[in-house]
Amino acid sequence: MDERIARLIKLWQKRNILGFYTEDKEGAIDLILEMIPQEASIGISGSVTLDQLGIVKILEERGNKVFNQYKAGINKEEALALRKKGVDADFYLASANAISEKGQLVFFSAYGTRIAGISYAKRLIVVCGINKITSNLKEAIKRAREYATPLNCKRLNWNSACVKEGRCRERICVFPNYKRMCCQILIVEAEMEPERIKVILVGEKLGF
Ligand code: SF4
Repeated sequence: MDERIARLIKLWQKRNILGFYTEDKEGAIDLILEMIPQEASIGISGSVTLDQLGIVKILEERGNKVFNQYKAGINKEEALALRKKGVDADFYLASANAISEKGQLVFFSAYGTRIAGISYAKRLIVVCGINKITSNLKEAIKRAREYATPLNCKRLNWNSACVKEGRCRERICVFPNYKRMCCQILIVEAEMEPERIKVILVGEKLGF
């Protein structure tokens, strides 16, 4: 573990956030399976990082109840109901769009259920590749909006103003001309309840 990560994990202790480091995806999967009991229910937020881990399938096969709004064959109402149940589950799994070296976690959201899950879940596990660490909060927000979100809009084929040129065009990205993904922003600076938030940093590039 390099010095920067060791420092970040120490800073999180002062913010009531538990930080973990693992070198690779397999280590992250092992940590998640240790942290979540087999009988626990789980809500998930949409995340390339979680997809790369394949963690939803692993948890489902282990017997966990996962409120998976992305499962095939469900309609919009069913997906929304699963999103809401996910917020109230025993655990919520997400990845941040960016993390500052001071320890702030930045999350962008379109519908806000992800923000609700992160803020409200009984237990939250955030998994992040070290590629998402930035020097400060300003850079973290910039990364989330100018790098991660245009890639997410493209991946999901949204009609957002950034899709065509691959860069944020926030001023014109409004309805009805565009479907804006950046509707809500959450910055987690600290946590009231000890052990509610765990962050697993992974020493490889994950997600956008
Ligand atoms: S504000 Fe609009 S254009 Fe900018 S990143 Fe978000 S969705 Fe894309």
